[in-house]
Amino acid sequence: MQIILFGPPGCGKGTQATFISQSLSIPHLSTGDMLRSAVTSKSEIGLKAKEIMEKGGLVSDEIVLSIVKDRVLSIDCQKGFILDGFPRTVNQAEKLEFFLNNGQSIDFVLRIKVNEEDILKRLIDRGRDDDKPEIIKNRFKTYNSETEPLIPFYEERGILFNINGMQEIEKVSEEIKKVLGVF
Ligand code: ADP
Repeated sequence: MQIILFGPPGCGKGTQATFISQSLSIPHLSTGDMLRSAVTSKSEIGLKAKEIMEKGGLVSDEIVLSIVKDRVLSIDCQKGFILDGFPRTVNQAEKLEFFLNNGQSIDFVLRIKVNEEDILKRLIDRGRDDDKPEIIKNRFKTYNSETEPLIPFYEERGILFNINGMQEIEKVSEEIKKVLGVF
């Protein structure tokens, strides 16, 4: 099963992705985690991504696609995967459709809907390096302009499912389980 988790910063994508990944035994691919580890290891990609991430912008499609493509096509992803934080632009979504193998097409895009004002506090409490109020504002702006256009993109394909993210973690998971109909 191929799943995309979609939603604004702080909507709980990472938490739910971990849960689904364990329940279905499929890898959790978080581009945010991959990029943060590239930054920590000071790799070439990390050095290019650092400044952009610190400002709350988007790392170039070229870089992100290069790290996701290898991962998604690797052997442990042949039975499925869950993408968290990718795609984030329509171009990324189009490229993803193009490079997936036969039988790897996306089954579910789970859109976790939240209220921006309420999650601002969640993010500040989380306290990651890019969770400072000014940067968070930029990440929301980036989300609204670059990532929201993916909603009609996946609606047209009939695979977009809305999940209410403004409830307890367990309740969100319950809703996801119902949509996936598997565990
Ligand atoms: P959040 O969901 O809280 O915004 P992530 O961990 O998914 O956090 O992403 C952190 C940062 O990593 C983003 O603000 C962005 O700079 C970069 N990033 C992650 N995924 C992508 C992507 N698919 N395309 C471009 N940049 C990305």
